[in-house]
Amino acid sequence: MVIKHCGNYDVIICGGGTAGVLAAIAAGRAGARTLLIERGPFLGGVSVMGFYPHSFYASSGKKVVGGLPQEIIDELVKRDGSLGHLRYEGGHLYALTPVDCEILKVVLMQMVIDAGVDLMLNSLIRDIAMEGTRISTVIIQTKADTFLASAQVVIDCTGDGDVGYMAGAPYHKGRQDGKMQPVSLVMRLTNVDLIKLANDIPTETPVLWAHKPRSKIKTPVYIRGVLTPWEGTPEYQQLFTDKNHQIFCLAPWATDVTVNTSRLVGVDGTDYKELVQAETASRIQIFRIYEFLKKYIPGFAESNMVGGQFLGVRETRRFVGDYQLTEEDIYAGRKFEDNIGLAAYPLDMHDPEGGNVTFTPIGGDGSYGIPYRALLPQKVENLLVAGRCLSATHRALASVRSIAACMVMGQAAGLAASMAAEKKITPKEVNIKELQKKLRAQGAILE
Ligand SMILES: Cc1cc2nc3c(=O)[nH]c(=O)nc-3n(C[C@H](O)[C@H](O)[C@H](O)COP(=O)(O)OP(=O)(O)OC[C@H]3O[C@@H](n4cnc5c(N)ncnc54)[C@H](O)[C@@H]3O)c2cc1C
Repeated sequence: MVIKHCGNYDVIICGGGTAGVLAAIAAGRAGARTLLIERGPFLGGVSVMGFYPHSFYASSGKKVVGGLPQEIIDELVKRDGSLGHLRYEGGHLYALTPVDCEILKVVLMQMVIDAGVDLMLNSLIRDIAMEGTRISTVIIQTKADTFLASAQVVIDCTGDGDVGYMAGAPYHKGRQDGKMQPVSLVMRLTNVDLIKLANDIPTETPVLWAHKPRSKIKTPVYIRGVLTPWEGTPEYQQLFTDKNHQIFCLAPWATDVTVNTSRLVGVDGTDYKELVQAETASRIQIFRIYEFLKKYIPGFAESNMVGGQFLGVRETRRFVGDYQLTEEDIYAGRKFEDNIGLAAYPLDMHDPEGGNVTFTPIGGDGSYGIPYRALLPQKVENLLVAGRCLSATHRALASVRSIAACMVMGQAAGLAASMAAEKKITPKEVNIKELQKKLRAQGAILE
C-alpha cells in the first residue's frame, strides 16, 4: 500500500459538519494553514438535514448567538435560503430560524473555500499516530489512496469523537446505564398542503406562519404536532412506542416539508453492526410512516417522498474535559469566566427508553455559557473538541447539542487552535482573555 503525504498544517479539523465547518472558517480566516477532512461528499453534517438552528435568542428575548453563525444566516437570507429569525410566540422557543438546507450546503462550501481552507471530501479519518501525548499524524482513507497529514493542533468535530477516542482521551457514553437518546431518520415530502396540514394535526405549541420567497400568502413554516387522533390505528401501534407521538414539520418552502418523527431506541452510533441495522430499519420505517401519513392526514394525501437523509445520531461519546457542563449549570443559566459563547436551547430529551420528547427550560436569563474548558479533553495535549462530543453530562448534552451551540463551539475552537499554532503552545495554554477579545471582535456574544 502506497501512503501519500498531504502536508503539514497548523490546524487539522476532523469532520466537516455543524461545528467543523465553522472551526475551519475561523482558523482559515485567522491565517492558519488549515485542512478540513470530511467523510461525506458535502459539508454541514446534521445541520444540513433540514432542521432549524433555532436558538439564536434566549426565552427572555435576549440575542445570544452572533459571530459566524449569524453571518451564515445573513448570507442565507441574501440568497432566499432563510427567512431570518422569526418571533415564535407561545412556543417553547423565543424565535425560529428556518433555513433551506440545500442552500446552506452551498453557503458553507463557499465560505470554507473563501477562507483558504484545504478541503478533503469523501475522506475518512481511519487512524491517528501519537508521539507521547500529542497526535502526530492523522491517517486518511479515500477511495483511491491513503494519506497522512500532520498539524500542530487537531480539532475533533466528528460528532462521535472518533479522533479523541483513537488518541485515548477519556470519555463517557450515554447516561449511567449506558442508554443514549434515540436515533432518527428524517424525510422530505413534497406537494404537501401545508394549510390543510395545520388544521389536521393537533399541536402542543402554536403553528408558525410566514411569507416565504415568491409566496403572496402566509403558510405554515413550523408545526410541532402530535399524532394522538390516530393512536387507535394498527399502523400507529406498529410504528410508535409512545402516546401522543410528536411529529415535527419544518417547511421553509411553499409545499415541501422536512418531517422528523421516526425513532429507534437502543442504537449505539459508534457500533458498526448496530448502525447498519438502524440505517436499514429506519429506511423501511420512514416509508411506512409516509404511507401512514398519506392515508390518515389529508394535508399529506397528495404528497410524494422526495428524500430521506442519513441516520441522525443525537448522542454518543462525550469527552471528559477540564470542565464538564452539567444540567445544574443549565437550570441556573450559569455563565463562566472562560465563556466562549452562549447557548439557549431548552433541554430537549428524547427518552432513551422510547417514551416521549420533553423540553425543560433554561434558568436565569434563558441562556448559559459554554466554557472553553469543556472543549479541552484530557490526556491529549494538542487536541480540541467541538460539537456534540464536548465535555458535558448526558442531560446537559440534550441542550448544548443544538446546531447554534455547536456552531458557536466551532468558531471558538478554530480561533483558539489558530492562536495555539501561531504561538506554538497547546490549546490549554491559550490566553482565554485574548481568545474572548478576538471572539467579541468577530461579533460573538459572550455574556
Ligand atoms: C434527528 C435529529 C434532529 C435534530 N434537530 C435539531 C433541531 O431541530 N435544531 C437544532 O438546533 N439541533 C437539532 N439537532 C441537533 C444538532 O443537529 C446536532 O447535535 C449537531 O448538528 C451536531 O453537530 P456536530 O458538529 O457535533 O456533528 P455533525 O454535524 O454530525 O458533524 C460531524 C461530521 O463529522 C463527519 N465525520 C464523522 N466521523 C468522521 C470520520 N471518522 N472521518 C471523517 N469525517 C467524519 C460526519 O460526516 C459529519 O459531517 C438534531 C439532531 C438530530 C440527530
